Amino acid sequence: MPQIIHWMYTAVIRPIITYGALVWWEAMNKEVNKKSLTKVQRLAALGITGVRNNTAQAALEAILNLQPLELYVKGQAAKGAVRLRESNFWKPINYGHSRILEEIGKLNSNKGLNLNSPTDYLVARHNFEGCVNIRIPSKEEWEDNSVINEHETSVYTDASITKTGAGIGIYSEALNIQKSYRLKNGCHAIQAEICAIREAARLIWVSGKPLRDVTIYSDSQAALRSIASKTVRSKVVMSCQEALSWLRGDGVGLRWVPGHKNVVGNIGADRLAKLGAGGNGAEVMDSPLPPISSLKDAIEEIILKKHREIWQNRNDCGIARNLWPKIDNNRTRQLLKHKKNLVRIAAGVVTGNCAVGVNLQKWKITDDSSCRECNEEEETIEHLMCWCPALENRRLQTMGQEFLDGLEDAAEMGIDNIMSFARNWKCFNARW
Ligand SMILES: [Zn+2]
Repeated sequence: MPQIIHWMYTAVIRPIITYGALVWWEAMNKEVNKKSLTKVQRLAALGITGVRNNTAQAALEAILNLQPLELYVKGQAAKGAVRLRESNFWKPINYGHSRILEEIGKLNSNKGLNLNSPTDYLVARHNFEGCVNIRIPSKEEWEDNSVINEHETSVYTDASITKTGAGIGIYSEALNIQKSYRLKNGCHAIQAEICAIREAARLIWVSGKPLRDVTIYSDSQAALRSIASKTVRSKVVMSCQEALSWLRGDGVGLRWVPGHKNVVGNIGADRLAKLGAGGNGAEVMDSPLPPISSLKDAIEEIILKKHREIWQNRNDCGIARNLWPKIDNNRTRQLLKHKKNLVRIAAGVVTGNCAVGVNLQKWKITDDSSCRECNEEEETIEHLMCWCPALENRRLQTMGQEFLDGLEDAAEMGIDNIMSFARNWKCFNARW
């Protein structure tokens, strides 16, 4: 019996898995231009060139804007650690892997950033009872004046984020509410909008009036949608749902109002929110904690910066550092727009790993390293790109100059120029 299972595995299951993986790989390769850069880069690094040694790998990583594996893994681990910590599944201890955030912190030169600060993240909670009734009327309905019902009690909310700070406003003629708050440390716009709705619910509740048909208006559809969501991953959304649940018996509804469309209540709330953001005498309220994405973005930024530093401080990879002096995402994008074969050629040229005479001699393919075009000097990338007299015309056509002073000149050109100089040409094009 076990033999049969073994046979099934080797003869049937494993080939299917292998074939599946190949099909997937192939599909990914075809998608190469459309997928996110990171994926493209990872594929490119594996697929384009036969990487021969560490300096070539470092150069390739630089031109493809691929974080070195060690750094990449650290970044991913740190992001995972933030999430685990925020989920309370993991308490940072003082040794081993759990020091990853500390380690990332050491790479960071921005002293204001604290990777240990808590975030708005919440382990997903499911709210099957459903929240309050939420309605998003169309713009046409608003234009017809068919949304506001005179028998309802309307409360308007708004948020304002300015350079000087964040504020929220709550306005209701019927309940005689006109409140401005300043949010202490600023926050994202959607968080402030949700905060404003929560505060409106609290004020309605505090007013203690027996209410029927209260409607809270907000001009943020995103805020309304996250409050309506049955799965909550944010502390501020959860506190807002709780505050609204106190009012449920009173029949409260949330409704979208278009901003800046002369709806009186919305204008009132907008004015109050701006007052709060300005801070003059407005009551101060603790802001929501920053979203978890802000810490993840910060980690990503630290890793990118470190990669740039590592590249600029290297003292090997001469050709690549001349032609590609700094990690540059736009240049990488330009490079990756081209067909795979062209990218391969360009990567060979820029990293110095292509079939020029000096390399052929080093790899023991030829004995003679002198230039096959002019026969005057050694055939190096610098010679070919900058001053080989036989290539004067080609340089003029593709790079706009007959001679270059050095590879630094080429670094200032668009990568397209370098590619059109290098393409269709035996030395750069050959595969080995
Ligand atoms: Zn030459």
